[in-house]
Amino acid sequence: MTQWITVLGATGSIGSSTLDVVRRHPDRYRVYALTGFSRVAELVAAAIEFQPQYIVLPIESAAKQAQQLLAAAACQCEVLVGEKSLVKVSSDSKVDMVMAAIVGAAGLVPTLAAAESGKRVLLANKEALVMAGPLFMQAIRQNNAELLPIDSEHNAIFQSMPANYDGDFSQHGIEKILLTASGGPFRNKSRSELKQVTPAQAVAHPNWSMGAKISVDSATLMNKGLELIEACFLFNCRADQIEVVVHPQSVIHSMVQYNDGSVIAELGQPDMRTPIAYGMAWPERIDAGVKHLDLFDIARLDFVQPDHETFPCLNLAKVAFERGGIFPAVLNAANEIAVAAFLAEQISFLAISDLIEAVIQECPEQHLTCLEDVLSADCWARERANAWLTNYLLDH
Ligand code: NAD
Ligand code: MG
Repeated sequence: MTQWITVLGATGSIGSSTLDVVRRHPDRYRVYALTGFSRVAELVAAAIEFQPQYIVLPIESAAKQAQQLLAAAACQCEVLVGEKSLVKVSSDSKVDMVMAAIVGAAGLVPTLAAAESGKRVLLANKEALVMAGPLFMQAIRQNNAELLPIDSEHNAIFQSMPANYDGDFSQHGIEKILLTASGGPFRNKSRSELKQVTPAQAVAHPNWSMGAKISVDSATLMNKGLELIEACFLFNCRADQIEVVVHPQSVIHSMVQYNDGSVIAELGQPDMRTPIAYGMAWPERIDAGVKHLDLFDIARLDFVQPDHETFPCLNLAKVAFERGGIFPAVLNAANEIAVAAFLAEQISFLAISDLIEAVIQECPEQHLTCLEDVLSADCWARERANAWLTNYLLDH
């Protein structure tokens, strides 16, 4: 039976990989809605190819531009505007699955809406889970939604877990999760070498081709910090049950270690179409257009400890998770402001972790009980981060 998919963030790196998988299986999947932000022409081109019922853009002027382009191509699809429309196309009854591939906090509300409407949620937007972990997992459980992790590490862990895993490590003989990290483009660099690195160097990831924000996160190791929090929420474990292993080849995408000495891993090409196709078709498997792994070509796999002194963001994330409540949301918001400032060449690479640490230190303890708590913590952290930034710019 054909399944209807909404792709949030369709013009991004994950969005376009998702559409590539859809393109290979026209009998299995049909596109219900595609959403974008600033790349209107690309979104319209995807709409002309996939003929969705709706496309969603953030503002009226972008929507007008899209309507003109669609009319010129005689494409029937309707253009909607704003966050309310993102929620609509994530929760409409016709939709079977939602690819959550908006970057950052902007994806939280529609991703949560997909969970609350009992959809299969294909979760790439890790920031949404980091910000609102307990609420998000509760929404999945209470509405019988399905949560399929798309982040390659979490998808690998999901594949390496027992099929009937119910959130209890000890019941299944699980000792720990081995979360692999490539180490990013600056692995082996010293702090003094990192002083001068540029945004262009930071976004040039050695193994994966991704959006700018996650590429910078990979360079600071904040991506691994966010992923550590993501794994704790997804698999219901403590931060000390996860060990980060730097594995520069990115062939093993993560592992699960059991009490009988077994370690189960998932290996593959660094191509996001594998976890995307897995999440879409689960529990079946479908062709993802990914070339086979040639182990003779790879020849060797290396593993080293992360360098916490040079890359403090990983520990900042771990501490934020352990403090709980609003701390992960505050960490995420401060990181988004810091990364945007670094990409705009306002702050240095090393100042990213300084900014985040300063905001976390100011943060008061607060429980997280509803979405408003998350949104106000996000707002508070952005204000504090911008105040820090103003001072930094005055001093530099
Ligand atoms: P990207 O920058 O390539 O794409 C981001 C998408 O989000 C675009 O479609 C953009 O239009 C949309 N968007 C941006 N700001 C928005 C806003 N304010 N409102 C609505 N839409 C907005 O990013 P990406 O690399 O595809 O990453 C998307 C998400 O997937 C991120 O959360 C990232 O951490 C996660 N992820 C990505 C990869 C990867 O390989 N790219 C791997 C694992 C996880
Ligand atoms: Mg990842």
